[in-house]
Amino acid sequence: MPKNVHDSILGTIGQTPLVRLNRVVSDIEATVWAKVETFNPGNSIKDRMALKMVEDAEKAGLLLPGGTIIEGTSGNTGMGLALAAIVKGYKCIFTTTDKQSKEKVDALRAFGAEVIVCPTDVDPEDPRSYYSVSSRLEKETPRSWKANQYDNPSNAQAHYETTGPELWEQTEGKIDHLVVGVGTGGTLCGTARFLKEKKPSVKVWGIDTYGSVFKKYKETGVFDKHEIYPYVTEGIGEDFLPRNVDFSLIDAFEKVTDRDAAIWTAEIVRQEGIWVGNSAGSAIAGLKQLKHQFKKGETVVVVFHDHGTRYVGKMFNPDWMAQMGYADVGGPTARELVKNKTVTELVGVEENDTVEHAAEQMRKNDFSQIPVLRSGRIVGSLSEAHLYGSMVSDADIRHQPVRKIMQKAFRYVDIETPIKLLAGMIHPESPAVLVRDFPADKTYILTGYDVLAAI
Ligand code: PMP
Repeated sequence: MPKNVHDSILGTIGQTPLVRLNRVVSDIEATVWAKVETFNPGNSIKDRMALKMVEDAEKAGLLLPGGTIIEGTSGNTGMGLALAAIVKGYKCIFTTTDKQSKEKVDALRAFGAEVIVCPTDVDPEDPRSYYSVSSRLEKETPRSWKANQYDNPSNAQAHYETTGPELWEQTEGKIDHLVVGVGTGGTLCGTARFLKEKKPSVKVWGIDTYGSVFKKYKETGVFDKHEIYPYVTEGIGEDFLPRNVDFSLIDAFEKVTDRDAAIWTAEIVRQEGIWVGNSAGSAIAGLKQLKHQFKKGETVVVVFHDHGTRYVGKMFNPDWMAQMGYADVGGPTARELVKNKTVTELVGVEENDTVEHAAEQMRKNDFSQIPVLRSGRIVGSLSEAHLYGSMVSDADIRHQPVRKIMQKAFRYVDIETPIKLLAGMIHPESPAVLVRDFPADKTYILTGYDVLAAI
């Protein structure tokens, strides 16, 4: 067949361009190239592994003609699976979480998939989680096959067979560093395995997010549940260890905050004209944090996983950026307030402590609200008015665990959030925010009084 002519859309997967980055990395001495995966037909790198998983399952007799593909997916894998399903005649049922962009869910439905949205803030083992729901559907649906991108070796293998060789060829073997956001681990580990076989000196950097377990596990071997919290960044980081993350192939992880990821997502298109998604922002922010690792004359490759269209309601929406505290409005930040002596580091109560104990803590510390923790993780809050109301209406409640009456957890904000944006986040239904200093691993509570004193 002539060049670039295909039997179906599936033939257009892969062979994406490598584009030199010029402005966003002006502070880096090495040459930085981006593998721009938006050129795939589903607009993300996940088309590669979705097709490979489907074809391997067909060969193994796991996916039968007219069958149903089931998967828990944040969107991009679903898009790749849906493309393959359309061409090959399968049905798709996907479970996803309520934190994913609406655009991603709408797009999956446009491709004819059934999408079930599940809560984000539950443990993977919880029957409501998107992992558990997809496993249950697989049992209940006849002729169904669950792709299981987290543990399915075809995921990493797709990148060993395509992404790795493409990068080797496109850099003419000059690649020295590979920088990739890690979710299932398939992209990074499949690509890295190929490149390290060709050139063992290639350094492999995994980009992780605060709220995920990867970095600490790599550095200490400890799976620390306290690292987990519901972060905003999409596509990377996990609260468990997928089999496709081969820690032996990754030299080091770098963690990026939601705020920096969002800011850099918006900057890439402004500075380079390359319209890519949230994990590309994380990757660039992480790459800049690592800049001293990249020497003059070296070749660095960063992978841009998906397209900016999937984030028009978020990182490309100024109102959302302001609501999240990410907009650059100038002036002092929460960091200045935290420096202030009147703001103390976080004190909370455990959810199984008694209501009486919580009341005592609040009285002793002169708090009008207090966070509620589960084994050190923040899961709720308690305000003075609610505590008082509960104790008046039920005298016995004082001996009950706090979890019986706790309210919604206070929201987290980054320590770099401008005070001007903080003011709008504190109101009667949400009387405090939790300020996170991620690199220092410190959390502070700020109330309306603290903010008022500053403005
Ligand atoms: N970025 C985005 C936008 C993604 O959808 C994913 C897949 N979860 C990743 C990064 C991470 O890729 P991988 O699963 O191959 O580690």
